[in-house]
Amino acid sequence: MDTQVLIIGAGPTGLTLALDLSRRGVPFRVVDASPAPFAGSRGKGLQPRSMEVFHDLGVIEPVLASGRFHLTMRAYQGREVLREWDVHEGRHATVERPYASTMLIPQFRVEQILREALPQPVEYGMALTSFTQDDSGVTAVVGGETVRARYLVGCDGGKSFVRKELGVSFVGETHEDQRMLVGDLRISGLDRDHWHQWGGRVDQWLALCPLPGTDLFQFQATGDGEPSLELYREIVRDRTGRDDVVVKDATWTSLYRMNVRMVDRFRVGRVFLAGDAAHVHSPAGAQGMNTGIQDAYNLGWKLAMETLLDTYEAERKPVAEWLLGMTTAIMMSGSPFERRGDETLQLSLSYRTTEGEGLHAGDRMPDGITEQGRIFDLLRGPDFVTLDFPDGPVLVRPDGYVAAIGRSAIDAYFGANPVTQLHHRRVAARTAA
Ligand SMILES: Cc1cc2nc3c(=O)[nH]c(=O)nc-3n(C[C@H](O)[C@H](O)[C@H](O)COP(=O)(O)OP(=O)(O)OC[C@H]3O[C@@H](n4cnc5c(N)ncnc54)[C@H](O)[C@@H]3O)c2cc1C
Repeated sequence: MDTQVLIIGAGPTGLTLALDLSRRGVPFRVVDASPAPFAGSRGKGLQPRSMEVFHDLGVIEPVLASGRFHLTMRAYQGREVLREWDVHEGRHATVERPYASTMLIPQFRVEQILREALPQPVEYGMALTSFTQDDSGVTAVVGGETVRARYLVGCDGGKSFVRKELGVSFVGETHEDQRMLVGDLRISGLDRDHWHQWGGRVDQWLALCPLPGTDLFQFQATGDGEPSLELYREIVRDRTGRDDVVVKDATWTSLYRMNVRMVDRFRVGRVFLAGDAAHVHSPAGAQGMNTGIQDAYNLGWKLAMETLLDTYEAERKPVAEWLLGMTTAIMMSGSPFERRGDETLQLSLSYRTTEGEGLHAGDRMPDGITEQGRIFDLLRGPDFVTLDFPDGPVLVRPDGYVAAIGRSAIDAYFGANPVTQLHHRRVAARTAA
């Protein structure tokens, strides 16, 4: 084998998987068809659950230093401010939820932080052009080079070559009538402390969001046509009705067409699909990048231990189904920028198979304070961890979800999945006085 895992695509999904595998000592290569990292912002909402993932992966500090919470929305008619509101009003950190609301941070910054944390560089200009698989591995051609790997993961975005080659269907709809012009612009005449919006009517809607850590605003406007600086200037002039808001230049422009689709299989033999390659949907609710990060986080430890690999699809497919419905509902609500429901934070997602109150196997392990320190710090690292609470042990998976509660359930879990026991730590977790 040339490598254990060949990751196709260095967006947030592929980079998260690469970082998770690297801390487990699993040999991998991450290749991308583009000659260089993508320059446009695209996703800019990072959800609390992704921040918890980044806490575990050891990159939360630069993320927190680069983003911003609670940016106030401001609706205008021309110059007149009609209303100001906080989509996440009242959401503040608690002991159990240290990251309580969505953070604004450009996707290119998230990707940069993940890339910089990798022990080896992303291989750019290396498109996957073909692959075959057999009982022991996958043979792929990337950038003209033949590579043999035990597993291949398609993190290659909505137009996924891997998905098409596998012949996996991408079931759903394209909403031809729902188009949005997007881009990153330098603009003078607007403060950077508000997410500025105009347009009483849907076809007149314009939003300009300051991107933290940059001098750019993300431009989003209903409309169609060839994206260009001139078109964006015209839209800003017409919809704001103001001549003091001046578009100086653009670093990225694009036309977004709404697709709501997902695969019916996340795995074919030794090949897996993750992120946009497996599901695409409305950007309303800021979920896409986050769901890709969590697909990768669900898959990483299973690839490393070569166990429970079928549970990747079993656990992530229902999440994708839920995601498509939830984001479409936000988009269709006609008010995608009103207060968001708690479900968008992705903290309540669970892989549990039983009903009932309280903590169950499959639930996210909440943070908390113990005499030994914060639970999230006790869990940090690539292993399963048994937290020995005074009222009984809880076994937590490497991705922070509860595997089993109580001694006999933990023994049964290890009995059914012996390899997991080889990657296991046990720590005392006495309740802080
Ligand atoms: C306007 C807009 C706003 C958005 N807002 C949000 C938001 O606020 N929050 C959020 O979570 N999400 C948001 N999203 C969605 C988010 O951008 C995507 O979900 C995210 O980029 C998916 O990440 P990914 O890594 O799966 O795929 P991508 O980021 O698409 O990366 C795929 C990579 O694969 C590479 N590739 C493709 N084919 C090949 C090949 N054959 N060989 C090698 N490499 C290949 C590509 O070059 C690319 O780098 C938004 C999207 C848009 C357009």
